[in-house]
Amino acid sequence: MSLIESGLFKPQLLIDGIWSAAADGSVFAVENPATGEVIARVADATPADAGRAIMAATRAQIAWAETSVLERSRLLRKWFDLVMLNQDALAKILTIEQGKPLAEARSEIAYGASYIEWFAEEARRIYGDVIAPPENSTRILVIKQPVGVVATITPWNFPNAMLARKLAPALAAGCAVVAKPAAETPLSALALGQLALDAGIPAGLINILPSTHAKEIGEAFTSNEQVRKISFTGSTAVGKQLITQCAPDVKRVSLELGGNAPFVVFDDADLDAAVEGAIASKFRNAGQTCVCANRFYIQQSIYDTFCEKLISAMKGFSIGNGLDNGITIGPLISNRAQQKVQALLDDAISRGAKIACQAMQDDSWQAGHFFPPTLLVNVPTDARLTCEEIFGPVAPMIPFETEAQVVQFANASEYGLAAYLFTRDAKRIKRLSDQLQTGMLGINTGLISNAMAPFGGIKQSGWGREGSRYGLDDYVNVKYLCESFS
Ligand code: ADP
Repeated sequence: MSLIESGLFKPQLLIDGIWSAAADGSVFAVENPATGEVIARVADATPADAGRAIMAATRAQIAWAETSVLERSRLLRKWFDLVMLNQDALAKILTIEQGKPLAEARSEIAYGASYIEWFAEEARRIYGDVIAPPENSTRILVIKQPVGVVATITPWNFPNAMLARKLAPALAAGCAVVAKPAAETPLSALALGQLALDAGIPAGLINILPSTHAKEIGEAFTSNEQVRKISFTGSTAVGKQLITQCAPDVKRVSLELGGNAPFVVFDDADLDAAVEGAIASKFRNAGQTCVCANRFYIQQSIYDTFCEKLISAMKGFSIGNGLDNGITIGPLISNRAQQKVQALLDDAISRGAKIACQAMQDDSWQAGHFFPPTLLVNVPTDARLTCEEIFGPVAPMIPFETEAQVVQFANASEYGLAAYLFTRDAKRIKRLSDQLQTGMLGINTGLISNAMAPFGGIKQSGWGREGSRYGLDDYVNVKYLCESFS
Protein backbone atom coordinates (compact mmCIF):
# COMPACT_ATOMS: atom_id res chain seq x y z
CA MET A 1 0.00 0.00 0.00
CA SER A 2 1.34 3.44 -0.90
CA LEU A 3 1.52 6.21 1.67
CA ILE A 4 -1.18 8.11 -0.20
CA GLU A 5 -3.45 5.06 -0.05
CA SER A 6 -2.82 4.79 3.70
CA GLY A 7 -4.81 8.03 4.10
CA LEU A 8 -2.13 9.28 6.49
CA PHE A 9 -0.15 11.49 4.13
CA LYS A 10 -1.80 14.84 4.92
CA PRO A 11 0.13 17.92 3.77
CA GLN A 12 -2.40 20.43 5.16
CA LEU A 13 -3.36 22.21 8.36
CA LEU A 14 -5.68 20.47 10.79
CA ILE A 15 -8.00 23.06 12.33
CA ASP A 16 -11.28 22.22 14.05
CA GLY A 17 -11.28 18.72 12.61
CA ILE A 18 -10.96 19.95 9.02
CA TRP A 19 -7.98 19.72 6.69
CA SER A 20 -7.36 23.11 5.14
CA ALA A 21 -4.90 25.30 3.25
CA ALA A 22 -3.00 28.15 4.89
CA ALA A 23 -4.83 31.50 5.10
CA ASP A 24 -2.53 32.95 2.44
CA GLY A 25 -2.40 29.73 0.42
CA SER A 26 1.33 29.28 0.85
CA VAL A 27 3.13 25.95 1.05
CA PHE A 28 6.66 24.81 1.90
CA ALA A 29 8.75 21.89 0.73
CA VAL A 30 9.68 19.00 3.01
CA GLU A 31 12.79 17.13 1.94
CA ASN A 32 14.05 13.63 2.60
CA PRO A 33 17.38 14.22 4.41
CA ALA A 34 18.83 11.01 2.96
CA THR A 35 18.24 11.99 -0.68
CA GLY A 36 17.42 15.68 -0.86
CA GLU A 37 14.18 14.80 -2.68
CA VAL A 38 11.09 16.91 -2.03
CA ILE A 39 8.56 14.51 -0.53
CA ALA A 40 5.70 16.94 0.03
CA ARG A 41 4.57 20.53 -0.22
CA VAL A 42 2.85 21.31 3.03
CA ALA A 43 0.48 24.17 3.90
CA ASP A 44 2.49 26.88 5.68
CA ALA A 45 0.43 28.13 8.64
CA THR A 46 0.28 31.86 9.34
CA PRO A 47 -0.50 33.63 12.64
CA ALA A 48 -4.10 34.05 11.34
CA ASP A 49 -4.36 30.26 11.10
CA ALA A 50 -3.00 29.97 14.63
CA GLY A 51 -5.71 32.38 15.82
CA ARG A 52 -8.38 30.28 14.12
CA ALA A 53 -6.99 27.11 15.68
CA ILE A 54 -6.93 28.68 19.15
CA MET A 55 -10.59 29.68 18.79
CA ALA A 56 -11.51 26.14 17.76
CA ALA A 57 -9.50 24.70 20.66
CA THR A 58 -11.13 27.07 23.12
CA ARG A 59 -14.61 25.95 22.04
CA ALA A 60 -13.71 22.27 22.00
CA GLN A 61 -11.98 22.38 25.38
CA ILE A 62 -15.07 23.60 27.21
CA ALA A 63 -17.06 20.58 26.08
CA TRP A 64 -14.13 18.19 26.58
CA ALA A 65 -13.60 19.27 30.18
CA GLU A 66 -17.19 18.14 30.87
CA THR A 67 -16.66 14.62 29.58
CA SER A 68 -16.07 11.79 32.01
CA VAL A 69 -12.55 10.52 32.46
CA LEU A 70 -13.84 7.16 31.29
CA GLU A 71 -14.85 8.62 27.95
CA ARG A 72 -11.48 10.38 27.54
CA SER A 73 -9.71 7.19 28.48
CA ARG A 74 -11.63 5.11 25.93
CA LEU A 75 -11.01 7.57 23.10
CA LEU A 76 -7.30 7.73 23.88
CA ARG A 77 -7.20 3.95 23.93
CA LYS A 78 -8.85 3.82 20.49
CA TRP A 79 -6.29 6.29 19.20
CA PHE A 80 -3.48 4.16 20.62
CA ASP A 81 -4.90 1.07 18.88
CA LEU A 82 -5.08 2.90 15.54
CA VAL A 83 -1.53 4.21 15.85
CA MET A 84 -0.23 0.69 16.45
CA LEU A 85 -2.38 -0.69 13.64
CA ASN A 86 -0.76 1.86 11.30
CA GLN A 87 2.75 1.49 12.71
CA ASP A 88 4.30 0.58 9.34
CA ALA A 89 2.86 3.52 7.39
CA LEU A 90 3.69 5.95 10.20
CA ALA A 91 7.24 4.61 10.39
CA LYS A 92 7.70 5.05 6.66
CA ILE A 93 6.50 8.66 6.81
CA LEU A 94 8.87 9.25 9.72
CA THR A 95 11.87 7.78 7.92
CA ILE A 96 11.37 9.71 4.70
CA GLU A 97 11.03 13.06 6.45
CA GLN A 98 13.43 12.55 9.37
CA GLY A 99 16.00 10.06 8.09
CA LYS A 100 16.19 7.53 10.92
CA PRO A 101 16.37 3.85 9.91
CA LEU A 102 12.99 2.19 9.45
CA ALA A 103 13.49 -0.13 12.44
CA GLU A 104 14.17 2.88 14.66
CA ALA A 105 11.18 4.67 13.18
CA ARG A 106 8.96 1.70 14.05
CA SER A 107 10.32 1.85 17.60
CA GLU A 108 9.57 5.55 17.79
CA ILE A 109 5.97 4.96 16.72
CA ALA A 110 5.57 2.31 19.43
CA TYR A 111 7.31 4.57 21.94
CA GLY A 112 5.07 7.54 21.09
CA ALA A 113 2.00 5.29 21.21
CA SER A 114 3.04 4.02 24.65
CA TYR A 115 2.43 7.53 26.00
CA ILE A 116 -1.06 7.51 24.52
CA GLU A 117 -1.70 4.13 26.12
CA TRP A 118 -0.22 5.23 29.44
CA PHE A 119 -2.28 8.41 29.63
CA ALA A 120 -5.42 6.57 28.51
CA GLU A 121 -4.92 4.73 31.80
CA GLU A 122 -3.76 7.72 33.86
CA ALA A 123 -6.85 9.71 32.76
CA ARG A 124 -8.75 7.49 35.20
CA ARG A 125 -6.38 8.26 38.04
CA ILE A 126 -6.62 12.04 38.28
CA TYR A 127 -6.91 11.99 42.05
CA GLY A 128 -7.57 14.88 44.38
CA ASP A 129 -7.21 15.00 48.14
CA VAL A 130 -9.21 15.30 51.34
CA ILE A 131 -7.06 17.06 53.94
CA ALA A 132 -7.51 17.21 57.72
CA PRO A 133 -8.81 20.73 58.45
CA PRO A 134 -7.89 23.05 61.36
CA GLU A 135 -11.47 22.77 62.78
CA ASN A 136 -13.93 19.92 62.62
CA SER A 137 -16.59 22.16 61.17
CA THR A 138 -14.74 22.52 57.88
CA ARG A 139 -13.58 20.17 55.18
CA ILE A 140 -10.65 20.73 52.82
CA LEU A 141 -10.97 19.21 49.39
CA VAL A 142 -8.47 19.41 46.56
CA ILE A 143 -9.57 18.82 42.99
CA LYS A 144 -7.60 18.85 39.74
CA GLN A 145 -8.89 20.74 36.74
CA PRO A 146 -7.63 20.98 33.17
CA VAL A 147 -5.30 23.92 32.49
CA GLY A 148 -7.33 24.79 29.36
CA VAL A 149 -5.91 25.36 25.90
CA VAL A 150 -2.32 24.21 25.57
CA ALA A 151 0.06 25.20 22.77
CA THR A 152 2.83 22.75 21.95
CA ILE A 153 6.00 23.34 19.95
CA THR A 154 7.99 20.24 19.08
CA PRO A 155 11.29 19.42 17.35
CA TRP A 156 12.23 17.26 14.37
CA ASN A 157 14.29 14.57 16.11
CA PHE A 158 11.28 12.55 17.37
CA PRO A 159 8.45 14.08 15.34
CA ASN A 160 5.92 11.49 16.44
CA ALA A 161 6.90 10.77 20.04
CA MET A 162 7.63 14.31 21.20
CA LEU A 163 4.15 15.34 20.11
CA ALA A 164 2.37 12.20 21.36
CA ARG A 165 3.80 12.65 24.83
CA LYS A 166 2.32 16.14 25.02
CA LEU A 167 -1.01 15.45 23.30
CA ALA A 168 -1.83 12.38 25.36
CA PRO A 169 -1.52 13.88 28.87
CA ALA A 170 -3.15 17.11 27.69
CA LEU A 171 -6.21 15.27 26.39
CA ALA A 172 -6.29 12.95 29.41
CA ALA A 173 -6.41 15.98 31.70
CA GLY A 174 -9.24 17.61 29.71
CA CYS A 175 -7.19 20.16 27.74
CA ALA A 176 -7.30 21.00 24.01
CA VAL A 177 -4.13 21.53 21.98
CA VAL A 178 -2.79 23.74 19.22
CA ALA A 179 0.42 22.13 18.00
CA LYS A 180 3.26 23.44 15.88
CA PRO A 181 5.53 20.64 14.70
CA ALA A 182 8.99 21.39 13.32
CA ALA A 183 8.98 22.47 9.68
CA GLU A 184 11.52 19.76 8.82
CA THR A 185 9.12 16.99 9.91
CA PRO A 186 5.45 18.01 9.85
CA LEU A 187 4.05 14.87 8.20
CA SER A 188 4.39 12.56 11.21
CA ALA A 189 2.45 15.02 13.34
CA LEU A 190 -0.26 15.45 10.71
CA ALA A 191 -0.64 11.67 10.37
CA LEU A 192 -1.15 11.43 14.14
CA GLY A 193 -3.87 14.07 13.79
CA GLN A 194 -5.69 12.03 11.15
CA LEU A 195 -5.64 8.96 13.39
CA ALA A 196 -7.01 11.01 16.28
CA LEU A 197 -9.94 12.01 14.05
CA ASP A 198 -10.39 8.38 12.98
CA ALA A 199 -10.47 7.39 16.66
CA GLY A 200 -13.37 9.78 17.23
CA ILE A 201 -11.47 12.37 19.25
CA PRO A 202 -13.73 15.42 18.87
CA ALA A 203 -12.91 18.12 16.31
CA GLY A 204 -10.93 21.08 17.65
CA LEU A 205 -9.19 19.19 20.44
CA ILE A 206 -6.08 18.59 18.37
CA ASN A 207 -5.15 21.32 15.89
CA ILE A 208 -1.90 20.99 13.94
CA LEU A 209 -0.14 23.92 12.32
CA PRO A 210 2.96 23.09 10.30
CA SER A 211 4.77 26.33 9.55
CA THR A 212 8.06 27.85 8.53
CA HIS A 213 7.14 30.99 10.52
CA ALA A 214 8.21 29.52 13.86
CA LYS A 215 8.76 32.81 15.64
CA GLU A 216 5.46 34.32 14.47
CA ILE A 217 3.43 31.23 15.34
CA GLY A 218 5.18 31.11 18.72
CA GLU A 219 4.19 34.73 19.29
CA ALA A 220 0.61 34.03 18.19
CA PHE A 221 0.51 31.31 20.86
CA THR A 222 2.18 33.21 23.68
CA SER A 223 0.31 36.48 23.09
CA ASN A 224 -3.15 34.87 23.05
CA GLU A 225 -4.78 34.89 26.45
CA GLN A 226 -6.91 31.84 25.62
CA VAL A 227 -3.73 29.79 25.58
CA ARG A 228 -3.03 28.96 29.23
CA LYS A 229 0.07 26.89 28.81
CA ILE A 230 3.01 26.34 26.49
CA SER A 231 4.73 22.97 26.32
CA PHE A 232 7.96 23.17 24.38
CA THR A 233 10.66 20.69 23.43
CA GLY A 234 13.67 22.17 21.69
CA SER A 235 16.72 24.30 22.20
CA THR A 236 17.49 26.13 25.44
CA ALA A 237 17.79 29.41 23.51
CA VAL A 238 14.22 29.23 22.17
CA GLY A 239 12.96 27.94 25.55
CA LYS A 240 14.32 31.07 27.23
CA GLN A 241 12.58 33.28 24.67
CA LEU A 242 9.29 31.49 25.28
CA ILE A 243 9.61 32.01 29.06
CA THR A 244 9.97 35.73 28.43
CA GLN A 245 7.05 35.75 26.01
CA CYS A 246 4.86 33.94 28.56
CA ALA A 247 5.65 36.39 31.36
CA PRO A 248 3.11 39.14 30.51
CA ASP A 249 0.06 36.99 31.26
CA VAL A 250 1.87 34.46 33.47
CA LYS A 251 1.23 31.45 31.26
CA ARG A 252 2.38 28.13 32.54
CA VAL A 253 5.40 26.77 30.73
CA SER A 254 6.85 23.26 30.45
CA LEU A 255 10.25 22.99 28.83
CA GLU A 256 12.27 20.02 27.70
CA LEU A 257 15.48 21.66 26.52
CA GLY A 258 19.04 20.83 25.65
CA GLY A 259 21.28 18.29 27.35
CA ASN A 260 24.95 17.50 27.72
CA ALA A 261 24.86 13.98 29.10
CA PRO A 262 28.02 12.63 30.72
CA PHE A 263 28.63 8.89 30.24
CA VAL A 264 30.84 7.68 33.07
CA VAL A 265 32.56 4.28 33.04
CA PHE A 266 34.50 3.08 36.11
CA ASP A 267 37.15 0.37 35.99
CA ASP A 268 34.92 -2.10 37.84
CA ALA A 269 32.16 -1.88 35.21
CA ASP A 270 30.98 -4.61 32.88
CA LEU A 271 32.70 -3.15 29.82
CA ASP A 272 30.60 -5.04 27.28
CA ALA A 273 27.44 -3.67 28.87
CA ALA A 274 29.02 -0.21 28.88
CA VAL A 275 29.82 -0.47 25.15
CA GLU A 276 26.28 -1.62 24.43
CA GLY A 277 24.97 1.32 26.46
CA ALA A 278 27.31 3.70 24.64
CA ILE A 279 26.11 2.53 21.23
CA ALA A 280 22.47 2.95 22.25
CA SER A 281 22.83 6.29 23.94
CA LYS A 282 25.33 7.91 21.56
CA PHE A 283 24.39 6.67 18.12
CA ARG A 284 20.60 6.21 18.22
CA ASN A 285 19.01 8.60 15.72
CA ALA A 286 22.55 9.40 14.44
CA GLY A 287 23.29 11.11 17.75
CA GLN A 288 20.36 13.48 17.48
CA THR A 289 18.61 12.99 20.82
CA CYS A 290 18.63 15.33 23.79
CA VAL A 291 19.64 12.45 26.09
CA CYS A 292 22.52 11.33 23.83
CA ALA A 293 25.79 10.69 25.61
CA ASN A 294 27.66 13.90 24.81
CA ARG A 295 30.91 13.34 26.76
CA PHE A 296 32.44 10.01 27.70
CA TYR A 297 34.48 9.93 30.92
CA ILE A 298 36.40 6.68 31.09
CA GLN A 299 38.58 5.69 34.05
CA GLN A 300 42.24 5.77 33.02
CA SER A 301 43.04 2.08 33.69
CA ILE A 302 40.36 0.85 31.25
CA TYR A 303 40.44 3.80 28.83
CA ASP A 304 42.28 2.01 26.00
CA THR A 305 40.31 -1.22 26.36
CA PHE A 306 36.98 0.61 26.38
CA CYS A 307 37.90 2.68 23.30
CA GLU A 308 39.02 -0.45 21.42
CA LYS A 309 35.79 -2.27 22.24
CA LEU A 310 33.66 0.71 21.24
CA ILE A 311 35.57 1.11 17.96
CA SER A 312 35.04 -2.54 17.20
CA ALA A 313 31.29 -2.16 17.83
CA MET A 314 31.20 0.98 15.63
CA LYS A 315 32.67 -1.06 12.75
CA GLY A 316 29.31 -2.87 12.65
CA PHE A 317 27.40 0.28 11.67
CA SER A 318 25.68 0.38 8.32
CA ILE A 319 25.14 3.97 7.21
CA GLY A 320 22.69 5.02 4.52
CA ASN A 321 19.10 5.66 3.49
CA GLY A 322 16.92 4.53 6.38
CA LEU A 323 14.49 2.82 4.01
CA ASP A 324 17.18 0.36 2.88
CA ASN A 325 17.51 -3.00 4.59
CA GLY A 326 19.96 -3.32 7.45
CA ILE A 327 20.76 0.39 7.77
CA THR A 328 21.61 1.31 11.39
CA ILE A 329 22.57 4.98 11.01
CA GLY A 330 20.76 7.50 8.83
CA PRO A 331 21.63 11.07 7.83
CA LEU A 332 21.56 14.19 9.97
CA ILE A 333 18.50 16.37 9.51
CA SER A 334 20.07 19.15 7.46
CA ASN A 335 23.11 20.73 5.96
CA ARG A 336 23.18 23.19 8.86
CA ALA A 337 23.31 20.27 11.31
CA GLN A 338 26.20 18.71 9.37
CA GLN A 339 28.14 21.95 9.48
CA LYS A 340 27.58 22.38 13.20
CA VAL A 341 28.84 18.88 14.02
CA GLN A 342 31.85 19.40 11.74
CA ALA A 343 32.67 22.72 13.45
CA LEU A 344 32.63 21.05 16.88
CA LEU A 345 34.83 18.24 15.57
CA ASP A 346 37.30 20.71 14.02
CA ASP A 347 37.44 22.68 17.26
CA ALA A 348 38.29 19.55 19.29
CA ILE A 349 41.00 18.57 16.80
CA SER A 350 42.49 22.06 16.85
CA ARG A 351 42.83 21.67 20.63
CA GLY A 352 44.65 18.34 20.37
CA ALA A 353 41.95 15.65 20.04
CA LYS A 354 42.66 12.77 17.64
CA ILE A 355 40.30 10.78 15.45
CA ALA A 356 40.68 7.13 16.50
CA CYS A 357 37.90 5.85 14.26
CA GLN A 358 35.76 7.36 11.53
CA ALA A 359 33.47 5.64 9.04
CA MET A 360 34.52 5.90 5.39
CA GLN A 361 32.48 8.35 3.31
CA ASP A 362 30.41 6.69 0.63
CA ASP A 363 29.34 8.00 -2.79
CA SER A 364 25.72 7.22 -1.99
CA TRP A 365 25.88 9.89 0.73
CA GLN A 366 26.31 12.73 -1.75
CA ALA A 367 22.72 13.93 -1.99
CA GLY A 368 21.95 13.54 1.72
CA HIS A 369 23.18 15.03 4.98
CA PHE A 370 25.28 12.15 6.22
CA PHE A 371 27.97 12.43 8.86
CA PRO A 372 30.47 9.65 9.49
CA PRO A 373 30.31 8.15 13.01
CA THR A 374 33.53 9.26 14.70
CA LEU A 375 35.38 8.36 17.90
CA LEU A 376 37.71 11.04 19.28
CA VAL A 377 40.46 10.40 21.83
CA ASN A 378 42.69 12.79 23.80
CA VAL A 379 39.82 15.22 24.02
CA PRO A 380 40.76 18.17 26.24
CA THR A 381 38.18 19.23 28.82
CA ASP A 382 37.95 22.71 27.28
CA ALA A 383 36.87 21.48 23.82
CA ARG A 384 33.55 23.02 22.78
CA LEU A 385 31.91 19.63 22.38
CA THR A 386 32.28 18.94 26.10
CA CYS A 387 29.99 21.85 26.89
CA GLU A 388 27.79 22.16 23.77
CA GLU A 389 25.24 19.63 22.59
CA ILE A 390 26.85 17.78 19.64
CA PHE A 391 23.63 16.36 18.12
CA GLY A 392 25.61 14.11 15.81
CA PRO A 393 27.44 10.77 15.79
CA VAL A 394 30.70 11.99 17.35
CA ALA A 395 31.87 10.33 20.58
CA PRO A 396 34.54 12.26 22.56
CA MET A 397 36.57 10.14 25.02
CA ILE A 398 38.04 11.83 28.10
CA PRO A 399 40.07 9.91 30.70
CA PHE A 400 39.64 10.46 34.45
CA GLU A 401 41.46 9.20 37.56
CA THR A 402 39.19 9.49 40.61
CA GLU A 403 35.51 9.48 41.50
CA ALA A 404 35.71 13.01 42.93
CA GLN A 405 37.29 14.26 39.71
CA VAL A 406 34.65 12.72 37.44
CA VAL A 407 31.78 14.06 39.55
CA GLN A 408 33.29 17.50 39.13
CA PHE A 409 33.66 17.02 35.36
CA ALA A 410 30.12 15.68 35.01
CA ASN A 411 28.52 18.50 36.97
CA ALA A 412 30.48 21.24 35.22
CA SER A 413 27.63 21.95 32.82
CA GLU A 414 24.76 24.39 32.64
CA TYR A 415 22.59 21.44 31.55
CA GLY A 416 21.20 18.61 33.66
CA LEU A 417 19.02 16.33 31.56
CA ALA A 418 20.47 12.81 31.49
CA ALA A 419 23.60 11.09 32.76
CA TYR A 420 24.89 7.51 32.50
CA LEU A 421 26.92 5.60 35.06
CA PHE A 422 28.58 2.22 34.64
CA THR A 423 29.98 0.55 37.75
CA ARG A 424 29.40 -2.61 39.81
CA ASP A 425 30.03 -0.87 43.13
CA ALA A 426 26.72 -0.48 45.00
CA LYS A 427 28.03 2.18 47.38
CA ARG A 428 29.37 4.21 44.47
CA ILE A 429 26.00 3.96 42.74
CA LYS A 430 24.39 5.41 45.88
CA ARG A 431 26.95 8.23 46.14
CA LEU A 432 26.73 9.23 42.49
CA SER A 433 22.94 8.94 42.42
CA ASP A 434 22.99 11.61 45.11
CA GLN A 435 25.73 13.79 43.64
CA LEU A 436 25.18 13.89 39.88
CA GLN A 437 23.21 16.97 38.86
CA THR A 438 20.73 15.48 36.44
CA GLY A 439 17.02 14.87 35.94
CA MET A 440 17.59 11.27 34.83
CA LEU A 441 20.36 8.78 35.53
CA GLY A 442 20.93 5.55 33.61
CA ILE A 443 22.76 3.12 35.88
CA ASN A 444 24.40 0.35 33.86
CA THR A 445 22.11 1.11 30.94
CA GLY A 446 22.12 3.52 28.01
CA LEU A 447 18.37 3.41 27.43
CA ILE A 448 16.29 5.23 30.01
CA SER A 449 13.19 6.57 28.34
CA ASN A 450 9.74 5.00 28.72
CA ALA A 451 6.18 6.15 29.34
CA MET A 452 6.12 4.98 32.97
CA ALA A 453 9.08 7.16 33.96
CA PRO A 454 9.31 10.94 34.49
CA PHE A 455 11.33 12.40 31.63
CA GLY A 456 12.82 15.84 32.17
CA GLY A 457 15.74 17.87 33.36
CA ILE A 458 17.11 20.33 35.88
CA LYS A 459 19.25 23.46 35.47
CA GLN A 460 18.97 24.81 31.90
CA SER A 461 17.54 21.52 30.64
CA GLY A 462 14.03 22.56 31.55
CA TRP A 463 10.93 22.57 33.69
CA GLY A 464 8.40 19.82 34.25
CA ARG A 465 8.24 16.11 33.53
CA GLU A 466 6.71 14.09 30.71
CA GLY A 467 5.39 10.54 31.14
CA SER A 468 4.65 8.77 34.44
CA ARG A 469 2.07 9.98 36.93
CA TYR A 470 4.04 13.22 37.22
CA GLY A 471 3.33 13.89 33.53
CA LEU A 472 -0.27 14.85 34.26
CA ASP A 473 0.75 17.51 36.78
CA ASP A 474 1.79 19.82 33.95
CA TYR A 475 -1.72 19.82 32.49
CA VAL A 476 -3.86 20.33 35.59
CA ASN A 477 -4.52 23.15 38.01
CA VAL A 478 -4.95 22.33 41.66
CA LYS A 479 -8.09 23.86 43.16
CA TYR A 480 -8.67 23.91 46.91
CA LEU A 481 -12.26 23.90 48.17
CA CYS A 482 -12.94 24.97 51.74
CA GLU A 483 -16.34 23.71 52.94
CA SER A 484 -17.83 25.03 56.13
CA PHE A 485 -20.45 23.02 58.04
CA SER A 486 -20.81 25.33 61.04
P1 ADP B 1 16.54 22.90 16.75
O1 ADP B 1 17.75 23.75 16.63
O2 ADP B 1 16.79 21.55 17.29
O3 ADP B 1 15.67 22.89 15.54
P2 ADP B 1 14.73 24.76 17.95
O4 ADP B 1 14.56 25.12 19.38
O5 ADP B 1 15.17 25.82 17.01
O6 ADP B 1 15.71 23.52 17.95
O7 ADP B 1 13.39 24.14 17.37
C1 ADP B 1 12.46 23.40 18.12
C2 ADP B 1 11.06 23.83 17.75
O8 ADP B 1 10.94 25.21 18.08
C3 ADP B 1 10.73 23.73 16.27
O9 ADP B 1 9.37 23.38 16.12
C4 ADP B 1 10.99 25.13 15.77
O10 ADP B 1 10.25 25.44 14.61
C5 ADP B 1 10.49 25.94 16.94
N1 ADP B 1 11.04 27.30 17.04
C6 ADP B 1 12.22 27.77 16.61
N2 ADP B 1 12.36 29.08 16.89
C7 ADP B 1 11.22 29.45 17.53
C8 ADP B 1 10.73 30.69 18.09
N3 ADP B 1 11.47 31.80 18.07
N4 ADP B 1 9.51 30.70 18.67
C9 ADP B 1 8.77 29.58 18.72
N5 ADP B 1 9.16 28.39 18.22
C10 ADP B 1 10.37 28.32 17.63
